[in-house]
Amino acid sequence: MQTPYWNPRMETLPRDQLEALQLTKLRDLVDWTLASAPWQAARLRDAGITSSAVLRTHDDLRRLPFLTRDDWMESQIEDPPFGAVLAQPVEAAIRFHTTSGTSGRQPLAVLDGPKDWEWITEMWCYALWGFGVRRVDRIFFAFSYGSFVGFWGAHYAAEKIGALVLSGGNMTTEARVRMIVDTEATVVCSTPTYALRMAQEAQALGIDLAAGPVQRVLLSGEPAGSIPATKALIEERWGAKTADTAGMTEVGTIVMFECDHQPGGAHVIEDHYLEEVIDPESGEPVGYDEEGERVVTSFGRGFIPVIRYRTRDLVRRIPAERCDCGRTFDIYEGGIRGRVDDMKVVRGTNIYPRAIEEIVRHHAAIEEFQVRLYTADGIRDEIEVLVECDGPAESEVESILAGLRSELATAHEGLRIGVRQVEHESLPRFELKAKRLIDERDVWGGKGEKKVM
Ligand SMILES: [Zn+2]
Repeated sequence: MQTPYWNPRMETLPRDQLEALQLTKLRDLVDWTLASAPWQAARLRDAGITSSAVLRTHDDLRRLPFLTRDDWMESQIEDPPFGAVLAQPVEAAIRFHTTSGTSGRQPLAVLDGPKDWEWITEMWCYALWGFGVRRVDRIFFAFSYGSFVGFWGAHYAAEKIGALVLSGGNMTTEARVRMIVDTEATVVCSTPTYALRMAQEAQALGIDLAAGPVQRVLLSGEPAGSIPATKALIEERWGAKTADTAGMTEVGTIVMFECDHQPGGAHVIEDHYLEEVIDPESGEPVGYDEEGERVVTSFGRGFIPVIRYRTRDLVRRIPAERCDCGRTFDIYEGGIRGRVDDMKVVRGTNIYPRAIEEIVRHHAAIEEFQVRLYTADGIRDEIEVLVECDGPAESEVESILAGLRSELATAHEGLRIGVRQVEHESLPRFELKAKRLIDERDVWGGKGEKKVM
């Protein structure tokens, strides 16, 4: 019988053994850093760490300093273009990738060696295999194959499993949909937003994807991959199962995956990453079921040691046993729930883009939406949700908008949230990392910089 696990021994390792393995790997990582990566080594020494011998228990991890994105960026500005973070000469690198730079900031550059890419491929195999992908599958990648790392690793993992890779770089949405149909793809990899975009395109072309051979849609790149209403909509439109994955260019592209038992969250690949969840203010650890910022120590990187990286991602960790697949890897319930900096305050009420998406996606007739914050009459903060509908009659649209207004208010302490229909196809469409919250508010009496999240 075929095993449901890519790496049966590691994926079912009892927790005490898993933590012992992590401690051994952490010691190796610290010794390697001290010996080979002068920039990180200086930071460790400043924190009083001169040898891995101080790491006696799993909790001793907390003696090591955090690494923030700003720290990393500082090293890149001091020593461009790759930064002072490298543990090997540039000549030994085989790949250059950058972070997606979605918040308008300068992207971080990352170099990888051959060992990194063998490892990244292996990490994606955990995810593909765990979602039920096998050598008989045909996997379509709706992905641009640029410097953003995205699904690059999944591509190699698909090859490693022996599946047929269908690369969909540099194509229009229509061409992608037609290729999925023509090649009889069984698995599609895409962002949640783009999976919906392709489904809309198929509908416009008169193609019924749900009747086709696609059985699985593997999601990545946005928190929506674990928003139940968004997933349900994608599953309905594609007639397929969905699973979420998440990672980060800085730490090794994929860190967590949802197994085919669909626990509504993603298992952390704990034999290769040591993940902590902390209170973003105090830096102190938080317990199971509590929301906090994830901090990642990566054991696979061969070019850039990454110890205790502050991701700014918000997560809620739950024990592995809450999924019945048998894995001992803990789960982030709801995947990446947002970013520490995502939250907006409008007239004293907290606004989370994820919560708004969850409500909007319950209305299948809404094709695209945007959340707009603005200043009215020069003083008052306002929030409105712009929606595009396709299909329903005008009277039906009115009732959808009214329903949405009342659901949004109920979920936000009665805050008045405007809901307005805009012209079909007037809102931006995204292939990667949707930016649906626009903050146009005046700040401190002057015209604030237009921020796009
Ligand atoms: Zn599971």
